[in-house]
Amino acid sequence: MSWVQELARPDIVALKPYEHASWEPSLERLHANELPWRPADDDSRAGLNRYPEPQPRALVACLAQLYAVTPGSLLVGRGSDEAIDLLTRAFCRAGCDAVLVCPPTFGMYSVSARIQGATVLQVPLLAADGFALDEQALLDRCTSTVKLIFLCSPNNPTGNLLDEAAILRLARRLAGRALVVIDEAYIEFATRPSLARRVAELPNLAILRTLSKAHGLAGARCGALIADPEIIALLRKIIPPYAIPQLTLEAVLDRLTPEARAASRARLEMLLAERERLARALPRLTGITRIWPSAANFVLAEFADAGAALARARAARLLVRDARGYPGLGRALRITVGTPEQNGRLLEAWS
Ligand SMILES: *Cc1c(COP(=O)(O)O)cnc(C)c1O
Repeated sequence: MSWVQELARPDIVALKPYEHASWEPSLERLHANELPWRPADDDSRAGLNRYPEPQPRALVACLAQLYAVTPGSLLVGRGSDEAIDLLTRAFCRAGCDAVLVCPPTFGMYSVSARIQGATVLQVPLLAADGFALDEQALLDRCTSTVKLIFLCSPNNPTGNLLDEAAILRLARRLAGRALVVIDEAYIEFATRPSLARRVAELPNLAILRTLSKAHGLAGARCGALIADPEIIALLRKIIPPYAIPQLTLEAVLDRLTPEARAASRARLEMLLAERERLARALPRLTGITRIWPSAANFVLAEFADAGAALARARAARLLVRDARGYPGLGRALRITVGTPEQNGRLLEAWS
């Protein structure tokens, strides 16, 4: 048995996947019980009357090229949220296995684990150390029931990158024993490259990427998991057969052309300049007691009275995220970097 087969749920390893209608675009389809006519005003390329291609090859190829990995090591899904869910379901036996998370961090890892019936173990980030990984505590907590370790870098909601050397050491120490999943939803906003290039040499490392943030396509619902090809093959067995809607497929391909990518890069520059503007201006406001350095498209700030700050933002018709529910962030708000006008209005509301 391979290490992936030993780590995954035995019933998922043994599962025979649903056999979807075969994908042979050169032939006419009388095998999927679709209607033969398009809706009257349908201008999609393939026709909305047709089921979309499962794991569309053009999209997989496009994302593999974007992330500089091989197509066999990439799974495309409805946002990285779907990949988080699939990983949890494929690796954690309900009532037996566990995932490890490092709060304060993104909530979906624990939610997916709880839906699956997996235990959630927590090893908090070290707040006094800029929310760094507690490497030794992580290793100590990693007993044989821990199948997945979710690390978010840059971390939501704190904005910091996790130490790359520590992540790689962790993956090496846990080789064959657990999968170390790095959520890089915000990596495009950071100065450091993705860890996707390390997956080939460290097969128990997996990377989550998304088009929802830097590519501005949150509404399209499209994200990717980059992992060992055997893990990708396992997850392809359990992802719903027609996970990527035709409209998403066409919208994403049209927005990842070389011209569209150049336009995204230009917008990214503007966004980074606005992040720096907020990072300089926020600490000067009297109600703000602290801001944390950010490698993402948001800034975490601590307020003397966060409730009052929320209310003043609302009065200026702006929503910011209440982060007070996170452990250790009792007076913090998370501010997404907006347009220059929105950022100006927020600063005005808080001055
Ligand atoms: C926004 C975000 C995602 C993206 O989720 P999608 O399902 O791809 O939209 C993933 N992880 C983190 C930490 C996020 O903040």
